[in-house]
Amino acid sequence: MNIDKIYKILQEQFSLYPAPVVDLIEIQTKDPFKILVTTMLSARTKDKTTSEVAHRLFETINKPEDFDTFTLGEIEKLIFPVGFFHNKAKYLKALPIALKKFNNKVPDEIDDLIKLPGVGRKTANLVRAVAFKKPAICVDVHVHRISNRLGYIKTKIPFETEMVLRSKLPSKYWLNFNSYLVAFGQNHCTPRNPKCSNCKIYDECERVGVKTKYCR
Ligand code: SF4
Repeated sequence: MNIDKIYKILQEQFSLYPAPVVDLIEIQTKDPFKILVTTMLSARTKDKTTSEVAHRLFETINKPEDFDTFTLGEIEKLIFPVGFFHNKAKYLKALPIALKKFNNKVPDEIDDLIKLPGVGRKTANLVRAVAFKKPAICVDVHVHRISNRLGYIKTKIPFETEMVLRSKLPSKYWLNFNSYLVAFGQNHCTPRNPKCSNCKIYDECERVGVKTKYCR
């Protein structure tokens, strides 16, 4: 398996698909706070919904302290219908106090980011990579699934995937790996019905766990 070849193909394919919502907000705002909030909103939520909610939210919320001017119920209404909006509203309401420890700035270290309410390793890695362009590998469902399908790694859980990718994937590929695999996973190598018969990576892919009916 040639990871350089696979990465190059993923890079080319990326330009054909709509940008994942967090990349879109980065392009539009270059603001780590808005990138963090969008990443929190995006968990278990379709990109289209996250994008609509994020754009609506940022009409009134532009800095952490702005959440102080809204009640929990108002924040819930503002971010509805993202998934788990009750919990996410609580995390956003608690964000200004949590960020005070970091001088009201979003930190760029994973160990600091995971101290923020509702922020796990996945969100922390994505914010570090997208907002700060610092080395990090965000492992979400797409990165976990596709890395294993390719046969590049053999892991059971996302944390294991992150650790194996950190030791195996050339660091020059870390920053964009999530964005490329999210776009590819949303549009081509989908959880069900992957488009293997029409895939530019076919010859490099072991198609681990993929039913033969999808193969050529
Ligand atoms: Fe995914 Fe199939 Fe392409 Fe492999 S060949 S990357 S499993 S769509």
